[in-house]
Amino acid sequence: MAVSVKQYRTSAETWWCPGCGDFGVLAALQRALAELNIEPHDVALIAGIGCSGKIGNYVNSYNLHVTHGRALPAAMGVKLANRHLTVVAAGGDGDGYGIGMGHFAHAIRRNIDVTYVVMDNQVYGLTKGQTSPTSDYGFKTKVSLPNIEEPTRPCLSAVSLGATYVAQGFSSDVKQLVELIKGGIKHPGFALVNVFSPCVTYNAFNTYDWFRENLVNLDDLAPDDRHDPHDRDSAIQMLRAKDGWVRGLIYQDLNSRPFEDRIAGFGAKSVATSDLDLDETLWNNMVREQQ
Ligand code: SF4
Ligand code: MG
Repeated sequence: MAVSVKQYRTSAETWWCPGCGDFGVLAALQRALAELNIEPHDVALIAGIGCSGKIGNYVNSYNLHVTHGRALPAAMGVKLANRHLTVVAAGGDGDGYGIGMGHFAHAIRRNIDVTYVVMDNQVYGLTKGQTSPTSDYGFKTKVSLPNIEEPTRPCLSAVSLGATYVAQGFSSDVKQLVELIKGGIKHPGFALVNVFSPCVTYNAFNTYDWFRENLVNLDDLAPDDRHDPHDRDSAIQMLRAKDGWVRGLIYQDLNSRPFEDRIAGFGAKSVATSDLDLDETLWNNMVREQQ
């Protein structure tokens, strides 16, 4: 029997402010899982700290609500313990690109099969409006002086660090976001889906209208201007040219091999060196150097 969106709903009362972009992300995630026909008991959702971190309460699956910035190491651990689970990590820009930035870089390097959905609202919403790592230069709130730091651009960082799937969505275009999340879940390896998800309470600058005016939808480009999502260099150039303000599939490595596939007999109690998928010459040189 086909899995329905209803199976992914919970009875928990939503805590988010009316109009928060996170509602669109929640709807898209539930739809993506249902459309992929994945049963809720085959899903683990690992959420970080922040308004966005509450998403775990609203998705009927296995859930872990972990410490600030630590969604990715927990998610990677869950995946390595049971590779048959669909593992999704979720959080915000403050959580993932602030205190969690080190884990972000290493999750990309390891390429463990986890889909990371980030609700990026360019502000710390839960703590009432401080500048976050993605807040723009000059961004100001009632509790923050104008921001004199340059923002990090998460998709550019991810593609540059070697990520094998990078997409960016907008929470008010749920239809596109469903496809981007589905693509990330199906992708064998680490997948980043950064979602512009407006905070209607503490970010008066990056509003829904602002995103509608400023985001370039890669799906709408004329045939001659089409972006090739399988070319890493052109993805980097495109992101730099548009300062990261795009939505759609940015990059996917069609030859991605997740960490788990590099170990024969993964899940066995012990793994011999001969089980590891290593370059033989490189390995022999390393052993020689150590002798
Ligand atoms: Fe959403 Fe902002 Fe309200 Fe948090 S404070 S629930 S991010 S609108
Ligand atoms: Mg935030």
